[in-house]
Amino acid sequence: MDPVGVAAAPEAGPGPAWQSKCPWGTPKTASISCSLADVMSEQLAKELQLEEENAAFPEVVAVAEGPFITGENVDTSSDLMLAQMLQMEFDREYDAQLRREEKKFNGDSKVSISFENYRKVHPFDSDSSEDEVDWQDTRHDPYRADKPTITPKKGFIGKGKDITTKHDEVVCGRKNTARMENFAPEFQVGDGIGMDLKLSNQVFNALKQHAYSEERRSARLHEKKEHSTAEKAVDPKTRLLLYKMVSGGMLETITGCISTGKESVVFHAYGGNATEDDKVIPPECAIKVFKTTLNEFKNRDKYIKDDYRFKDRFSKLNPRKIIRMWAEKEMHNLTRMQNAGIPCPQVVILKKHVLVMSFIGQDQVPAPKLKDVKLNSEDMKKAYYQVVNMMQQLYKECNLVHADLSEYNMLWHDGKVWLIDVSQSVEPTHPHGLEFLFRDCRNVSQFFQKGGVAEALNERELFNAVSGLNITAENEVDFQAEKQFSETLTDFSTVFLMICSQI
Ligand code: ADP
Ligand code: MN
Repeated sequence: MDPVGVAAAPEAGPGPAWQSKCPWGTPKTASISCSLADVMSEQLAKELQLEEENAAFPEVVAVAEGPFITGENVDTSSDLMLAQMLQMEFDREYDAQLRREEKKFNGDSKVSISFENYRKVHPFDSDSSEDEVDWQDTRHDPYRADKPTITPKKGFIGKGKDITTKHDEVVCGRKNTARMENFAPEFQVGDGIGMDLKLSNQVFNALKQHAYSEERRSARLHEKKEHSTAEKAVDPKTRLLLYKMVSGGMLETITGCISTGKESVVFHAYGGNATEDDKVIPPECAIKVFKTTLNEFKNRDKYIKDDYRFKDRFSKLNPRKIIRMWAEKEMHNLTRMQNAGIPCPQVVILKKHVLVMSFIGQDQVPAPKLKDVKLNSEDMKKAYYQVVNMMQQLYKECNLVHADLSEYNMLWHDGKVWLIDVSQSVEPTHPHGLEFLFRDCRNVSQFFQKGGVAEALNERELFNAVSGLNITAENEVDFQAEKQFSETLTDFSTVFLMICSQI
């Protein structure tokens, strides 16, 4: 209370009695004299206002926040009103305490006791079904009365002792039980729906929350399951594809897995009798299954994103389709190489992300990688010249840069080198084409130099020999610097060709 206000009140001069009692002080306009008619109408207005306040009072309280109502729209000149407001505050505090006790009483128990009926401020209880029960059962409600009893806005029907509020425990409880039908089908609600079970709002809301989180959890689990099978590359869809290849007679049997890489899984299979496009199926096949997880192709989109052959399609595709493009790319590149006479697997068939090709090796034993085979110096030298030759053919005749050429992707079979793994190969005009070629050259030079091939060119010389371009020892420094710089640029080859043209 404002002591100044109270002390000043007696000196406030003549005025209506309610003014001196008002603890919030006296309105300044009080001392202004006016005609009887004015006073009369003012009193009338005040009476009307008081009536309105009484009628609208609960609504005012409902929107109010904080311990006391201080809103400017609330007239503090009515003692009755102030008393009611105060009472309402006490009631709210009482209810808050009741809620705490209710919570403490029920703890984690699955069956809880509602203190709802002891609450003072029923219609505006924040725990009420109005706030939290957002499912309106539109389907058959076994407990719905024949003629639906509509609860009016005031929140209750009836008179005196027979008042039934919308919070009536029985009505509400039955409704809540019926609403359990709305939970996800997997959610076990028991046979409560068939019994005359009454669920308090609190229990129902807790159940509803639980049903929601169960639904979300099961969705997450499902996703995880899908993901983990995809990670092994042979998800149900792939399995079906492979099964069809066998049942269709294209493959006789799939014997087992040769390799599990980051991006693919390779299986060995014996070829079947069926012919595909008049092509005779090789007696032994390799099946390359491109993995359908996101992680791998993230690293790879650098290769395909800027490849003009796939440009239009890249932006429109979903991850699954992009994976198929990898398989398609490998098929196209292998075909180009085959046509140029480069030793490489022969394409048998492509089905989605599964590529079937001829097997390099014999009797289920894949040909060893150059990295794993111990060649004598003569074979090493022979292999080296063959590789240089193949790189040139690849560049000039196939218009391709392998882009992942190393002793890991070259197999030694039948006394010669076979190139594999060309899904990432690009055309030399690819923005990173020459950069990839330079990297290939470095891998090849280093491998054969270390392998004792004295004639092996260094990476720069090999690059020139393959590309027909001419970088010299002097401008190689520039080239390296530009290359590093251009790694952040998209159009590296333009920068690089500028250097070459200066020679
Ligand atoms: P990744 O992208 O996983 O490296 P690759 O095409 O290199 O895929 O294949 C992985 C491994 O599978 C190779 O290192 C090789 O051992 C084996 N492999 C792949 N294709 C064939 C094939 N046609 N014949 C025999 N072995 C193959
Ligand atoms: Mn590989």
